[in-house]
Amino acid sequence: MTLAHGRSYLAIPGPSVMPDRVLRAMHRAAPNIYDGEIVQMMPDLIEGLKSVARTRHHAAIYISNGHGAWEAALSNVLAPGDQVLSLCTGRFGHGWHEMAAGLGIAAQVEEFGLHAPVDPSRVEAVLRADRSHALKAVLLTHVDTSTSILNDVAAVRAAMDAAGHPALLMVDCIASMGCDRFEMDGWGVDVAVAASQKGLMVPPGLGLVFFSDKAAERRNQMERVSRYWDWQPRVAPDLFYQYFGGTAPTHHLYGLRESLAMIAEEGGIEAVWARHDHLARAIWAALEVWAKAGPLELNVAERSDRSRAVTALHIGAPNGTALRKWCAEKTGITLGIGLGMSTEDDPKGDGFFRLGHMGHVNAAMVMSALSAMEAGMLALGIEHGSGGLSAAAKVISEA
Ligand SMILES: *Cc1c(COP(=O)(O)O)cnc(C)c1O
Repeated sequence: MTLAHGRSYLAIPGPSVMPDRVLRAMHRAAPNIYDGEIVQMMPDLIEGLKSVARTRHHAAIYISNGHGAWEAALSNVLAPGDQVLSLCTGRFGHGWHEMAAGLGIAAQVEEFGLHAPVDPSRVEAVLRADRSHALKAVLLTHVDTSTSILNDVAAVRAAMDAAGHPALLMVDCIASMGCDRFEMDGWGVDVAVAASQKGLMVPPGLGLVFFSDKAAERRNQMERVSRYWDWQPRVAPDLFYQYFGGTAPTHHLYGLRESLAMIAEEGGIEAVWARHDHLARAIWAALEVWAKAGPLELNVAERSDRSRAVTALHIGAPNGTALRKWCAEKTGITLGIGLGMSTEDDPKGDGFFRLGHMGHVNAAMVMSALSAMEAGMLALGIEHGSGGLSAAAKVISEA
């Protein structure tokens, strides 16, 4: 029989669980976009976003998903014929430079594999070798959602500084923002990209681009920037519609205002990071115990290299797909598919899956996700180390 009737739980790495408060804030009649509340709330909304990104500089909002935010960021500072250095630790790293290729921007790709973060010394060596400073930007994925690798942004910045290279540091924070610590100004990031539907707990539809004064200057030196992606009118609008290059994403803005209020009520972004850190340690504790026997493996061996937003796992084909299916049908939780770990026709692909723990998740939800996984492993006869749930509960008990 199925025990899935009850509230469904989407535990994939985005879109993430949406708080009822956010959904309720969006459930309203269309507001006037020429006057009144929605126009007046913009300055606070922008300040709220900047506090989450830890920047005092600029924030532009686009009606787009993360792919749109990728293109927006590239379009403002890079022209056809420019070259970038792309540091890849999974599928999303490649996605960004593929986006750049569509704009006529060539990427020098440095591949760091699927299990360990970017090695800053290699970045320094590549940049030192670029004596003519042909590389205009370094593209880095803070958390690659496919592998769940967490990259050390400050270390990449230090490598760039050590090489004395003037390239812009551009960071994809779509998975990490609101989950893993990210310090845009403190770490010397020039452009940071995010989207609404992951740590920010709002439905997909808002792309966010944060940029430094150095990036703003680069934008001003560009011969042309595509009108829609141009961030300049969006950060210095004379009229409300210029924030969005057209009609505002009205209901998403109400949702975003609510999610930013929830982050502030929790104690600010530091408190949100601390919750995600604690929950991630509970998840890792369970997984590490289960991995002691049987086929389950965490994709990233070192805890310091793991994201607190998502965990990529391998459990041997066909167990990954079977476990996801079992959990969805029997318990009502949907786990994430594996991504970028194998080619599409590779039968081993059915061994990969992911657990999303970004955004609006608490200890009870994380424990329920782990319990559903253990029930699934028992039902499917997948061997695993015993005591995983107790190990997670112990971490939660230390809250
Ligand atoms: C989700 C994600 C993207 C893509 O975002 P979309 O909204 O699906 O376009 C890009 N990069 C990272 C790291 C992501 O997690």
